[in-house]
Amino acid sequence: MTLADRWREARVPVAGLHLDSAACSRQSNAVIDAAATHARHEAEVGGYVAGEAAAPALDAGRAAVRLLAGLPDAEVVFTTGSNHALDLLLSSWPGPRTVACLTGEYGPNLIIMAANGFEVRLLPVDETGRLRVEEAAAVLRADPPALVHLTVLGSHRGVVQPLAELAAVCRELGLPLAVDAAQGLGHVDCAVGADVLYTSSRKWLAGPRGVGALAVRPDLYRRLTPRWAPLELHEANIGSRLGFSLALGEHLAAGPAEVRRRLAEVGALTRSVLAEVPGWEVVEPVDEPSAITTLRPLDGAEPTPVRARLIAEHAIITTACEVVRAPNEMDRAVLRVSPHVDGAAEDLQRFAAALVAVSS
Ligand SMILES: *Cc1c(COP(=O)(O)O)cnc(C)c1O
Repeated sequence: MTLADRWREARVPVAGLHLDSAACSRQSNAVIDAAATHARHEAEVGGYVAGEAAAPALDAGRAAVRLLAGLPDAEVVFTTGSNHALDLLLSSWPGPRTVACLTGEYGPNLIIMAANGFEVRLLPVDETGRLRVEEAAAVLRADPPALVHLTVLGSHRGVVQPLAELAAVCRELGLPLAVDAAQGLGHVDCAVGADVLYTSSRKWLAGPRGVGALAVRPDLYRRLTPRWAPLELHEANIGSRLGFSLALGEHLAAGPAEVRRRLAEVGALTRSVLAEVPGWEVVEPVDEPSAITTLRPLDGAEPTPVRARLIAEHAIITTACEVVRAPNEMDRAVLRVSPHVDGAAEDLQRFAAALVAVSS
């Protein structure tokens, strides 16, 4: 059985077409059951007793995050998602507050940086939005910031950033590197041992909504000064953390390298099918190794109403990415298409026909 078949078989049938993993993937039945079973256990033995019983399974989830981040001794705390993780990190940050990031930095991250008093400096990128590593190294060496932040894969564009190369530069310069792996973990290789990595459960890892993880190298973790409580929220939906932990386990069982290979293949398939759609232009290079594809309207179509019509008239889900997602890089909204490992040519052709129908 192929990875695509196993992925499909582990889930309820989809109502329509799901091309929206970058927003929220489809959970497996086992992940859904893990959260539901925990809720039942809480009712039987009490929430806090059930929480203690869940500790080993949650520790397995933390271990999976360490493995995927290449941080074998990191402290891993569960968060409510990626934005929460970044806010925890920055609000606990010791020392000067300057941060270097890319032109295409995620808009909400820029807001969190500003809210925590960080001065943002932009690193040079090429015309696709990809970091120019050598130029960035020179900029960082000439005027080192307190922190380097890399969103390895953006929300608004499927261009994979050169994480390993930037990590090597930061190591050489002695600069801490934090990685936003909300779109990256379970999708592209993030096991480079950055100083900090954070992610969300619901995207490519296909866990529940409302949960995420923050991994921090132990020496940096000890220097953080949380504002009022330990970094990990004690009062939380433990069932969703359990579901996330199981989804991480399913990802490891599927084989992270095999998932990455398949997602790259699905991305290339998506872009080659959509290259033919009139009125829209594929933004990414066809062979970009990610399953995120974005489409720019050429004839004045508006992604937000187009997305709504795709749902209402064709039961196809995609995302309209407005300029606020990457305010320093985007000049207009794009339509984002993000199938998972089960993405198939006939689905994409059906989407292409629907897109033509709703764009006119
Ligand atoms: C979705 C996303 C986030 C925010 O994640 P939440 O879990 O919703 O807080 C951050 N960065 C990127 C690149 C994202 O795509």
